[in-house]
Amino acid sequence: MAETRDSIIIGAGVIGAATALALARKGWKPLIVDALPAAGYGSTSASCAIIRPYYSTVDGSAIAYESHFYWTGWRAFLGADDERGLARYVNCGCTLLKTAQNGELAATMTLMDEIGVPYEELSPAALEARFPAIDLNAYAPPKRPEDPAFGTPNGARISGAVYFPTGGYVTDPQLAAHNLQRAAEAAGATFRFNSRVTEINRRDGRVAGVTLADGTAIEAPVVVNVAGPHSFKVNRIAGVEDAMKIHTRALRHEVAHVPSPAGLDFERDGTVFSDSDTGTYCRPETGCHVLIGSEDPACDRREWVDPDDYNTEFSEQWRVMVMRLAQRFPELGIPGKTRGVVSLYDVSDDWIPIYDRSDLPGFYMAVGTSGNQFKNAPVAGEMMAELIAACEAGRDHDRDPVTFRLRHIGREVSVGFYSRRREVNPDSSFSVLG
Ligand SMILES: Cc1cc2nc3c(=O)[nH]c(=O)nc-3n(C[C@H](O)[C@H](O)[C@H](O)COP(=O)(O)OP(=O)(O)OC[C@H]3O[C@@H](n4cnc5c(N)ncnc54)[C@H](O)[C@@H]3O)c2cc1C
Repeated sequence: MAETRDSIIIGAGVIGAATALALARKGWKPLIVDALPAAGYGSTSASCAIIRPYYSTVDGSAIAYESHFYWTGWRAFLGADDERGLARYVNCGCTLLKTAQNGELAATMTLMDEIGVPYEELSPAALEARFPAIDLNAYAPPKRPEDPAFGTPNGARISGAVYFPTGGYVTDPQLAAHNLQRAAEAAGATFRFNSRVTEINRRDGRVAGVTLADGTAIEAPVVVNVAGPHSFKVNRIAGVEDAMKIHTRALRHEVAHVPSPAGLDFERDGTVFSDSDTGTYCRPETGCHVLIGSEDPACDRREWVDPDDYNTEFSEQWRVMVMRLAQRFPELGIPGKTRGVVSLYDVSDDWIPIYDRSDLPGFYMAVGTSGNQFKNAPVAGEMMAELIAACEAGRDHDRDPVTFRLRHIGREVSVGFYSRRREVNPDSSFSVLG
């Protein structure tokens, strides 16, 4: 007899584990299967785990702001111990430069005002006081190093920044997924590792379970695709991809891990820092280091890859990101030895996730997280559980979208915002900024 469960979640990353916890808290007994040996070993482990409230849409920003309160109250939210300890949220805030690219942040501040997100505008002098090593020349647009104008100021000056106190970063994203695993187990979920799903089974017009690579079949009336950069492969074997308007694919990305610029203890005095003028973002890292990522400027080629076959070595991208940030912080050294991570984003057509049902009854997806949903995992998990419970109780979410209450900030959002059937959202940044 095949093993039977009430639900199966494919993927034990931070969002799969958060979905498991939220479903278990609703009384389900989900089985989470993952091809890797532990929770959070996929793209979650490579995450910069930056927490920030600013996105390009109201819903995206509201959910991100709400998430801050889950991280500040992480222990209480989990309600369960982890023998490895708890992930730590460093609430150092975020500094976003005002640039020509982001319209001097006028639209962002309007969005923040609408939601009630606190922020403080910083003058150039205030920026220099906070970051003594900073160069406020403008270099836009971001360029490739082979461009003769690379590193040459364009004559304008950075006009200031906006500082958001409700942001920062989580020191160990893989541990955060493990914390969620332990909390989910305490609530009734079961995790099975080293188990790759190779088939999604159907019966009588709905999902009936999965088959693993070793041939084991597990029956369940509900299956959730939270497979990260493999999401499109799982949707393909489920046969649901063609009916979706928004699709996902895997994008290769690198993160550089370098010492702080001379004269600046970034671990102690730094914040999350976003600079669209040079096309980079960074955050403090343990040991007086900086983690640097790319904001995907238009001049860079995007590396769409097969998640089962891509280059895991550092490439020129690593050096380009460090050189770009060195325009802003000229004392930043460019080490000869490359350190950091090479990993994948699971990118949707508009860089906004899909948290939705599918056209196959019982088959759901939390995918397309586009390099920017670590922070939202606890909220995304609860939205998914609410969606699944409502649809299984007969609600037609496509016609009558489920709403979700953001309890810390007192707002309601429509889960329909994340529909697989939406048109491409023109308000998106079409980048990791979401
Ligand atoms: C370099 C980088 C930097 C980032 N920085 C940030 C940031 O600063 N802030 C932020 O908010 N977000 C950030 N993100 C995004 C964030 O990390 C992701 O959105 C989030 O971790 C995705 O979690 P997940 O659970 O959906 O996917 P994953 O963590 O990728 O988990 C998916 C799991 O599914 C499993 N799986 C796949 N296929 C199968 C199968 N067929 N059978 C069984 N298991 C399967 C995989 O093994 C994997 O463990 C970053 C991402 C990257 C890569």
